[in-house]
Amino acid sequence: MAEFRTIKGTHDLLPDELSNWRRIESTIHSIMEQYGYGEIKTPVFESTELFVRSIGTDTDIVNKEMYSWTDQGGNALTLKPELTAPVVRAYLQHQLGNKNPLQRLWYFDSLFRRERPQKGRQRQFYQFGAEAIGSPHPEQDAEIIAMAYNIYKTFDIQEMNVRLNSIGSKEIRLIYLDKLRISLAKKSNVLCANCQTRIEKNALRVFDCKNPECQKLLDENAPLIFDSISEDDRKHFDTACLMLDNMGIPYFHDKKLVRGLDYYSHTTFEITSSALGAQDALCGGGRYNGLIEQLGGKSTPAVGFAAGVERLILAIDKQENSVNPPDIYLISLGEEAVVTASKLASDLRNICGKTVLLETLRRSLKAQMREAGRCGAMKTIIIGEDELAQNKVIVKNMASGSQQEIPMADITRFF
Ligand code: AMP
Repeated sequence: MAEFRTIKGTHDLLPDELSNWRRIESTIHSIMEQYGYGEIKTPVFESTELFVRSIGTDTDIVNKEMYSWTDQGGNALTLKPELTAPVVRAYLQHQLGNKNPLQRLWYFDSLFRRERPQKGRQRQFYQFGAEAIGSPHPEQDAEIIAMAYNIYKTFDIQEMNVRLNSIGSKEIRLIYLDKLRISLAKKSNVLCANCQTRIEKNALRVFDCKNPECQKLLDENAPLIFDSISEDDRKHFDTACLMLDNMGIPYFHDKKLVRGLDYYSHTTFEITSSALGAQDALCGGGRYNGLIEQLGGKSTPAVGFAAGVERLILAIDKQENSVNPPDIYLISLGEEAVVTASKLASDLRNICGKTVLLETLRRSLKAQMREAGRCGAMKTIIIGEDELAQNKVIVKNMASGSQQEIPMADITRFF
């Protein structure tokens, strides 16, 4: 057994897996560009205060899951546990709002949470996502939801469910939360220990609890936030739904879908796939009209989503997990042929733009042919002592098995 291993909840991405990742990342990139989003990358760590102030102290992330430390200069730092706050920090720091009243940004990045590792749940994981900062209108919500949905559609994800709700504006939520607290307090003994503390601190988060008893109490007793939202908020929600209908995006209005943080408002959504098992959430998102102000900017509406990359990979058919096959496997036999083959491989890459695997283990012809077959090469080029003496090579088509002799001088033209 190796002496050093990856830390619990982290994983290596090996070539087989990573080539699949590259394809996925580039597909996501093109879809984001189609919608006019520009890519943003923020540093791996930020000030701890950024996350405490944005995510809030009543959350599992801030209470239990952040990787935080004090550096040699006494600065309190944290590996980023989510990506919206750093994007908003960058938006404010670089005054992006002054450059364009609407900023459409997307990212593909890793993040860190000290959670209990299990299938589809790591301590370092990757997310892609998008943030549209500046528009208060429902068409922006619909665009964000449609973009997330279309990414999954492009990857042909099966058994996908889009759930959608509105939690209205902050003012109305304060009145609603009082009603919710009163109703939950009546039977608080039925709630799990976590939810009992949530009643006072952050009652809306009881809706996120997976405990069946808590859910049962909510079903039987709790008022739903959607029933409290204003006429305007309802109109906003209905318009976003109408736009999704027109785009042919199926969704389910789940009145229990909430986001528990103060800065969220209006639309909330989640996309799940039952193909994933217990950790079935592909992505989550919604409006966060309060966050920019909470981080020191002027009140600015925004909406976005964040999606787990590992979850997407789990949901994608496994058969895509293979390294791109090379165009050519270059077989050489004998010390002199090796020298010629190495120059030829270089020409085929540089002049012809081919993917070429060069044999460097000096194996037997049979073993080299077997290797060419294993890696799925389209063609092999064989240079042995006879070919070298006659200044030619043999080109073999691996699919048909046919071979032809090509003069060395014509080989780059041939390819
Ligand atoms: P969140 O930032 O918690 O709203 O999560 C957004 C998405 O990231 C989820 O829907 C999951 O797909 C993914 N995700 C969240 N936590 C983890 C984790 N610990 N490991 C892997 N993926 C995760």
